[in-house]
Amino acid sequence: MSGAIVWLREDLRLGDNPALRAAIDHGGTVTVVVVLDEDTPGVRPVGAASRWWLHHSLSALDADLRDRHSRLVLRRGPAARVIPELVAESGADAVYWNRRYGRVERDLDAGIKTALTEGGTEAHSFAANLLWEPWTVLTGQGEPFKVFTPFWRAAQAMPEPRHPLPAPDDLPGPADVASDDLDDWAFLPTAPDWAGGLRDAWEPGEAGAHRKLEQFVHDALEDYDKRDEPAMAATSDLSPHLRWGEVSPYQVWHRLHGELEPAQRRQAPAFLRQLAWREFNWNEYFHCDHLATVNVRREFDAFPWRQVDEDELDRWRHGRTGFDLVDAGMRELWSSGAMHNRVRLAAASFLVKNLLVDWRIGEQWFWDTLVDADPANNAGNWQWVAGSGFDAAPYFRVFNPDRQLERFDPHREYVHRWVPADEDRPEPMVDLKASRQRALDAYAEMRRA
Ligand code: FAD
Repeated sequence: MSGAIVWLREDLRLGDNPALRAAIDHGGTVTVVVVLDEDTPGVRPVGAASRWWLHHSLSALDADLRDRHSRLVLRRGPAARVIPELVAESGADAVYWNRRYGRVERDLDAGIKTALTEGGTEAHSFAANLLWEPWTVLTGQGEPFKVFTPFWRAAQAMPEPRHPLPAPDDLPGPADVASDDLDDWAFLPTAPDWAGGLRDAWEPGEAGAHRKLEQFVHDALEDYDKRDEPAMAATSDLSPHLRWGEVSPYQVWHRLHGELEPAQRRQAPAFLRQLAWREFNWNEYFHCDHLATVNVRREFDAFPWRQVDEDELDRWRHGRTGFDLVDAGMRELWSSGAMHNRVRLAAASFLVKNLLVDWRIGEQWFWDTLVDADPANNAGNWQWVAGSGFDAAPYFRVFNPDRQLERFDPHREYVHRWVPADEDRPEPMVDLKASRQRALDAYAEMRRA
């Protein structure tokens, strides 16, 4: 008996999946497995909104596999134990996966590769989730880029990203191995079921991802220059699909270089530039271990954050700060698992600067509530807002949430979706001018330290 295992992680798709393609080319049975590994030390458990997403994404993947006469195998436990067990049970002689880029995951995968190879099983990994793997775009001195614009310039000078691979029409059946029941992973909230807003807003899975991409290209791309206006549906909403690899950046890249109307083509470069911010953050994550917990610029270790007041934090988390744009954004997040980028900036800046709360506390809240929460983009953006990351916003640039509102949602169209016009509003929880000055004083204190 011969066959291969495809271990899917952040690449929950059949199209443009080099590991899956290699497993099919290997010959014999193809067993597609997803491992729930919450046991390996250092692996960060995904947040509640992501668990909801994963449940539906895995369920869609299983249905897509069944359409091709296969099925998804689910296993739970430390991957270093589960994968070799599955090799033994299935009689596979090769294991394939697409690469991950976090320190813990890289070490884990390297250890598994060594163990498999020493035991006589082939193990191969592929590039699938980033257009430029973090060791490929470097400065002339061979260092990682710490500033976005030169990174993007260097990336564009690289050979064009490869064309996406087609999805297989059919799969040689999996080996006769048992699978966990997805429901037993208990990813869906029950008491209470808070996921109604998520169900209304999203369609997890590969088909949903491609529908979003086409919808964006047809209906919104030509308005991408209005992407900073949260009331406009001018962005793609692809982030959770990209986070779980239901669509690959190669597929997105080539769609944007494919057939477009002139008005769409004019906006494509701006969109691809945003997509490159995702690459830049993954580059930062690869080069800076513990991006979600350690300041990239270590001088921020001396920053005098305020002691956390749980009542204050609750007002921020649940959209009762008294600042309309922040409150609308935090309510959108709680209800739908997403928040417009401009509003994320305002809400994050309010926490870190006006309330002087450590960015890690905000990062953790977003980690738990965002459907697109990923270890590079979430931590990278929080460090950007705090001023402690690569190419970060200078700390002294403090967003004024009221001015942001005037500028980007002057008719309150976005705000009123989440904060009814007749709501009895709480008093603003801080004075913007005084809290801005307090933030600048704290920054000066850090610099003195
Ligand atoms: P579009 O404008 O359509 O952009 C297309 C794609 O480009 C996005 O799907 C995303 O993959 C990428 N992208 C766009 N802007 C950024 C950016 N600033 N940084 C990195 N990638 C970007 N994005 C996440 O994917 N996951 C996160 O956990 C996350 N956390 C964030 C936390 C904070 C505090 C802030 C300020 C931003 C965060 N972002 C995060 C970035 C950005 O807000 C989202 O990527 C964007 O809102 C997703 O909407 P979209 O898909 O419609 O974006």
